[in-house]
Amino acid sequence: MDAIDQVVLNSRLHYLGMDARVIEPRMKLAVLTCMDARVDAASLLGLRPGDAHVIRNAGGRATHDAMNAMALSQGILGTREIMVMHHTECALQRFTETQLAERISTATHQPFTELLGCFTDPIEAIRDDVRRLIEYKSLVHRDKIRGFLYDLATNTIAEVKMPLGVPRNPQAGLG
Ligand SMILES: [Zn+2]
Repeated sequence: MDAIDQVVLNSRLHYLGMDARVIEPRMKLAVLTCMDARVDAASLLGLRPGDAHVIRNAGGRATHDAMNAMALSQGILGTREIMVMHHTECALQRFTETQLAERISTATHQPFTELLGCFTDPIEAIRDDVRRLIEYKSLVHRDKIRGFLYDLATNTIAEVKMPLGVPRNPQAGLG
């Protein structure tokens, strides 16, 4: 059986109920995290259906696409806080852009020139993504954007504080 057939069967056991009526996330929270299969964002963070947006990509990076999703999340669907959560043992840290591109190219026999967001310092990567979001003017709320590192070995998350000099509330003083 294909994995997709398996998950289609699994879906028959899922009960949604009244949560299906919630459109705007109850906690007014959006989480940006990695697609890594070990990162169970809902379970880890205690999120139930209807609670929060969870946007995932390779690395949990603040890519153009992820930032657009955040603009929609805040501007249309009423979220106010953003949690950026990267994790230890991320593939984007274990490999370089060149290594990943070569492996994809070799497997597909096609050139692959996209940047995937590889990083060497996980703390700096989180700070970069938080900074990009704080500076993104299409977000309604930029005063509660915080970064975290999820340590898979200890199953704990730790906040990554921003260095001094990064405005915590870029809206302060405006209008
Ligand atoms: Zn990852």
